[in-house]
Amino acid sequence: MSEIAERLEEMERLGLSRRLRLVSGPQGPTVLLDGKPVLLLCSNNYLGMANHPRVREAAADAAMRWGVGAGASRLVSGTMTIHGRLAMFESSEGCVLFGSGYLANLGVIGALAGRGDVVFSDELNHASIIDGCRLSRAEVVVYRHRDVEHLDWSLRRHQGERRLIVTDSVFSMDGDVAPLAEIVELADIHGARLVVDEAHATGNLGPGGRGAVAAAGLEGEIDVIVGTLGKAFGSYGAYACASAEIIRYLVNAARSLIFSTAPSPPAVAAALAGLELLQEGSHCVQRLRSNARVLRRALAAEGFPVADTEMHIVPLIVGDERATVRLCQEAIGRGAFAQAIRPPTVPMGTSRLRLTAMASHTAAELQLAASVFGAAARKLGLEPAAMTPPSPERQPAIAQLTEFEAAEVTVFARERYDEAPSTAPFDLERDRDAPLMAADTGSQSRAPFDFERETSGARAA
Ligand code: PMP
Repeated sequence: MSEIAERLEEMERLGLSRRLRLVSGPQGPTVLLDGKPVLLLCSNNYLGMANHPRVREAAADAAMRWGVGAGASRLVSGTMTIHGRLAMFESSEGCVLFGSGYLANLGVIGALAGRGDVVFSDELNHASIIDGCRLSRAEVVVYRHRDVEHLDWSLRRHQGERRLIVTDSVFSMDGDVAPLAEIVELADIHGARLVVDEAHATGNLGPGGRGAVAAAGLEGEIDVIVGTLGKAFGSYGAYACASAEIIRYLVNAARSLIFSTAPSPPAVAAALAGLELLQEGSHCVQRLRSNARVLRRALAAEGFPVADTEMHIVPLIVGDERATVRLCQEAIGRGAFAQAIRPPTVPMGTSRLRLTAMASHTAAELQLAASVFGAAARKLGLEPAAMTPPSPERQPAIAQLTEFEAAEVTVFARERYDEAPSTAPFDLERDRDAPLMAADTGSQSRAPFDFERETSGARAA
């Protein structure tokens, strides 16, 4: 059996195997999923912009005017007039576009931190931040989720070093919000730079949909804000907002900007149209908020332990990987689709259905969906009321994980941090000196999984 086949088999055995599902039609409240009509409860098209007539038209017009591709990276000939028009509405001096949010995080973190520096990263940050930390070759200190005391403690341990804090503002798989005011204060006290990823907040939260940073009254206080054009703006691409100096630096140092084709004109024009709709005071932000509440209340009525807030991301935490997949499949059979989210996207033992409300749902659709998830859970013998976030004690110990899991899965440290090492498993401190990429080392090209192996090897050590 080939190594690849072995890995695939292992994923299957662990309930971690994935496959692509086919959606026909635009990202609306209902779609055809592999040919079957379902309510769509897991799209990040939060404001319905991806299929808004004005946004579609803008993309089509841009394709006719500028063509479909930028043809080169930003620094070669790929910066076109349309790119300059999308100065984001975050209140910062400068803004630069990236190909995607994933690329933006890779580029920004890699530019602001390097070997000898320290990056402090929330343990539930998005994979693109984790990968940005890895590629930066800085030491990575993973602080406990939203735990400012732990962050402060970690920052103190690295006094005198160049430090970068990075956090999601709205956490993508839990829908909770980072304690931004406290983090800004810590960054100030310790003289650390701060990057905030607003991927799930821009367009959705704060005054005029300007994000969680604006909602917290912290505009102008963050060194770099990263946002995506692929969620609330319904398009594709991303941006980083910062001072003019940092933007100039990113253009010179962010490798994912320098070495990747510029965002396509139709994608940029579509995002621009979405931004205009938002700035015109479209009701979609309010609609998203009230829909989120409708969904949450309907799920609570089914017995799910869901808080009565207006956050649009609602996790139903099943725990077990296979049970989560079964619940997903059962709900699809009954007409509602929320994808099963498993490691490495979420920590081991916290697999879940991640539900998202969209402004384009009707209240009736959301209520129907909630009843489908309730009925599906009961059919499988899963008690909705039991679907609460697990305590750290319920997390499997790292030693029980296979090499594959250990390479990718975040496991909560069990000890208190003052007794424990300051870093979570994906910390790369110990393999900082290992060569990472052929391009940097001049060595022969490396197998695609090498990097993961180095990580797990470091952990096993
Ligand atoms: N950051 C966060 C918090 C995300 O959830 C995502 C996408 N899921 C990204 C960045 C990446 O954005 P994009 O999809 O534009 O690559």
